[in-house]
Amino acid sequence: MWSNHINYYLRMRTHQLVLSWIENELSGGRLTVGGRLPAERTLAEQLKVSRTSVREAIRILEAMGVVRAGVGSGPEAGTVVISDPTAALGSALRLHVATQHLPVADIVETRVLLESWAVAKAGPDAPELEEASALLEAMAAEDLAVSDFLALDVRFHLALADAAGNAVVSAMMGSLRESIQGYAAELTSGLPDWEATASRLRAEHQDILAAIRNDDGGQAARLVAAHIEGYYKEAGLASAGTEPARP
Ligand SMILES: [Zn+2]
Repeated sequence: MWSNHINYYLRMRTHQLVLSWIENELSGGRLTVGGRLPAERTLAEQLKVSRTSVREAIRILEAMGVVRAGVGSGPEAGTVVISDPTAALGSALRLHVATQHLPVADIVETRVLLESWAVAKAGPDAPELEEASALLEAMAAEDLAVSDFLALDVRFHLALADAAGNAVVSAMMGSLRESIQGYAAELTSGLPDWEATASRLRAEHQDILAAIRNDDGGQAARLVAAHIEGYYKEAGLASAGTEPARP
């Protein structure tokens, strides 16, 4: 069923979210192997996904050998991290890591291709626009870490792509998630002023969403293309095929 495909990819995405969260917590020392994940509800609220999605994500991570789901209640219950996911890459993850080595210029072109089509196709009443709107609210927060901003930014673009209602486009965007976030983070070193860029990106996101809501697909497509290419150019990478400068 078509809707099952959509659900499948949404679940795939949530497991990546939960996984990235675990990785961040591990690298930040807030979580250790053998430590317990927060309650399902807490994690769902923190990651802004449903409890069902968190449960499903934990099932995938369990199958990958990253966590062991808890049983019962009390202090011994809860999901335990049993291996460092960066050291235990499953085949699904290897694919995402592999895509991080794609040339940035090619990812940018592909994004423009997929996303300008998607926002032109997205209906003004698509339910995914609610999620997109909620993500923009989260991105408006003051003193948001750059990495958190970029993670929300990618999710905003994935929500817009989902709004087009094409399962293949959603899947393709989903598979580019890690590489988009990766290059966006890498390019921050080439930006003259992050705060200025962040406020410009926020305004552009609002304009893109407004164009979709106004059922102006042509305008939405132009804005999203300029938004994607603008960031890339601002970081000093205007010509195709240029690799990002290493700090
Ligand atoms: Zn953006």
